[in-house]
Amino acid sequence: DGEIEFENVSFSYEARTTALNGVSFKVPKGSSVALVGESGSGKSTILRLLYRFYDLKDGEGRILIDGKDIRDVTQLSLRKAIGVVPQDSVLFNASIGYNIRYGKFGASEEDIEAAAKAAQMHDRIMSFPDGYETKVGERGVRLSGGEKQRVAIARTLLKNPPILLLDEATSALDTSTEKDIQKALQNLVRGRSSLSIAHRLSTIASADLILVLKDGQIVEQGSHRELLALD
Ligand code: ADP
Ligand code: ADP
Repeated sequence: DGEIEFENVSFSYEARTTALNGVSFKVPKGSSVALVGESGSGKSTILRLLYRFYDLKDGEGRILIDGKDIRDVTQLSLRKAIGVVPQDSVLFNASIGYNIRYGKFGASEEDIEAAAKAAQMHDRIMSFPDGYETKVGERGVRLSGGEKQRVAIARTLLKNPPILLLDEATSALDTSTEKDIQKALQNLVRGRSSLSIAHRLSTIASADLILVLKDGQIVEQGSHRELLALD
């Protein structure tokens, strides 16, 4: 499972400003869709609606996961089905292990380690004196932006949701850090349905489908190759 469908979705935060206007698309199970478009075009709104941060009203279209209207899905099962990796991850002032286990506290040590390895964070964690028990934040080690991101990726790998929402805001990480977490992200995205607010060229180039948004509408769509052929 993990198929997402937007059916003629329109949405306004306030009267007279339309954030989305008749948006329809499908993310087939296991495929990656990249949202591109200038600031204010509606990319974040798509993710927020899918996460039910806001609900659609009757007449504003439908959002379906595996054929089911998400308004008929409980928040809890939606949160189980969807993993979110935001632009810059904030960690709890707790141990690294706690931060990875958060959301799946019953996980075994082996599973936690496997997730940290896939997130390319295990070796770094083992370099700390207390390993997975090392505290992060104010009273512990200070992690770089990329390292925090990898901890968040490990947490999401452990949670193992069929759907991923990724927000690659431009500001958070410098280019070399981005390159650094690329492998971890690839491990996360593989085999899941993903919807990304895409800024990295590599994300756009590897997406199965690119949706170009403008003023709340999809104005172009296709593979990277197809879109390049248009120009
Ligand atoms: P993007 O992610 O592509 O930058 P958004 O989805 O954030 O675009 O925004 C789409 C439109 O909705 C914009 O006109 C934006 O100003 C407006 N908008 C976004 N968030 C809010 C909000 N919380 N309240 C009111 N308007 C908003
Ligand atoms: P706002 O811009 O309206 O203040 P935020 O961006 O701070 O909203 O997000 C508030 C919550 O909405 C997040 O904690 C998350 O649950 C959800 N959310 C917002 N943006 C995203 C996103 N890009 N991907 C997934 N969830 C998001």
